[in-house]
Amino acid sequence: MPKDFFSHLHDKKTPPTYKFFNGEAWMDGASSKTVEVISPIDNSLVGRIPLVSNLEIDQAISNAKKAQEAWMRVPMIERGKILHLAADWMREHEHYLTALLIKEIGKNTPEAKDEILRSADMIDYFAHEGLHVKGEELSGEAFPGYDQTKMAIVEKVPLGVILAIAPFNYPVNLSVSKIAPALITGNCVVYKPPTQGAISCLHLTEIFYLAGLPKGLIVTITGGGAEVGNYLVSHKDINGITFTGSSQVGKEIAVKAGMIPLLFECGGNNPAVVLPDADLYSTAIEIVKGAFSYSGQRCTAIKYVLGLKPTIDKLIPMVSQKTKEFIKMGDPRIPEINLGPVISDGEADIIERRILMAKAQGAKIIMGGKRKERLIEPTILDLVRPSMEIMQIETFGPVVSFLRVESIEEAVKIINSSDYGLQASIFTSDEGAGIQLARQIKVGTIQINSKPQRGPDHFPFLGVKGSGVGVQGIRYTLEAMMRPRPIVLNKPH
Ligand code: NAP
Repeated sequence: MPKDFFSHLHDKKTPPTYKFFNGEAWMDGASSKTVEVISPIDNSLVGRIPLVSNLEIDQAISNAKKAQEAWMRVPMIERGKILHLAADWMREHEHYLTALLIKEIGKNTPEAKDEILRSADMIDYFAHEGLHVKGEELSGEAFPGYDQTKMAIVEKVPLGVILAIAPFNYPVNLSVSKIAPALITGNCVVYKPPTQGAISCLHLTEIFYLAGLPKGLIVTITGGGAEVGNYLVSHKDINGITFTGSSQVGKEIAVKAGMIPLLFECGGNNPAVVLPDADLYSTAIEIVKGAFSYSGQRCTAIKYVLGLKPTIDKLIPMVSQKTKEFIKMGDPRIPEINLGPVISDGEADIIERRILMAKAQGAKIIMGGKRKERLIEPTILDLVRPSMEIMQIETFGPVVSFLRVESIEEAVKIINSSDYGLQASIFTSDEGAGIQLARQIKVGTIQINSKPQRGPDHFPFLGVKGSGVGVQGIRYTLEAMMRPRPIVLNKPH
């Protein structure tokens, strides 16, 4: 890098203590209280982030509010130019950002690089698509009993101050998916990054400013979710919340936030149904990728597989074989490694406990099940039953369960009784049968012959039940960041 564009984000110590951005400047926290960001790879201290106080939050939100009033009047094309430049900055600094992401959240290089580049593309797409957001004109004549001359000019206006809260597993991508649509539609962003991933997110903030974003439009509040989160979500000046994270935290926020627009992507406990006519070879490969990519720490990971007994009997050895072939566990900085540590000791404890509990309740560990610090072996469980804890609560690690059902109707019943409803996969060689089955499953998206996944990012993406509120996807997210403002013209009487 020719110049260290980011040196003013932290002090000169090693490891550094970072600053937060209050809309006017990069600031040390007034209280000097900090939160440590520990690398899941080697337990090293990546840096410290300030625990921002309520008073500082008030000041930052006030700065953002002021900035938004001017920003909403900036022509969309000018806003878009800044976003495109931010995307270019991300691409230009991809190596630097990738390295940071690897250290902070333990992704391997291809996954981290993909996150950065996909985020840059997403910014560009939002900036393009923003130009197509339009209001409309409606005529009163369409509805009987109304004056024929009555008409409504329906403008689209920004919500105002958007609170964006991102999770650790895609800290950059799932921040961009909030910040870019908010900005292009004329909003400002009060941004709460996840603690694990916060340092990458501070760099992301600065990239928007380096691209020319007027001050104040992103204020970045660091600190633990439990400390700063509660104050932020119930702040009177927040006009809408876009959140990605666990179902539990999502539900807590929904209660505290009150009657403001909410756009939530929450946890998933995603099933795969394998029909008797499925190509088991390709199904096994999709299950391995779906269950174990980024150590199972994806909201769209496959968590359990359902099928008739003969199907599951044939499938399990194939999935085990493909796991042995494809999955290499270890330090994600080593090129051939594709299964690294989970995010924290606490998460590893939970995953280990769920595996042991399932075993105690009668599940059989076909493969894996052991743990070394934060590394959890890719784990395949057989003879799992719907009543087990591992089936009830999302387990954010590399564990996949197999269930034998008497009929496909029983599989549908099990899926539909879940508290989650993000995605489901159906594997079959009969697409018509796949579509019929898809219509019976109560989740956001059904994938036929593929693992669950979020992209491409312009497809609608949503969860039902505990998995989310509202719809994401480029055009859908833009709509969610605005509200219609009808101005009705009436003939004077
Ligand atoms: P999390 O613990 O729920 O945290 C998510 C974010 O909320 C973090 O920024 C966290 O800050 C913050 N937070 C925590 N408590 C808060 C509170 N009381 N008020 C306001 N904010 C609070 O989730 P995570 O462990 O980071 O991410 C994994 C979860 O996200 C999984 O359940 C996964 O399925 C879900 N996820 C869903 C999708 C989707 O598209 N549906 C995508 C990705 C991830 P701190 O980090 O500082 O605690």
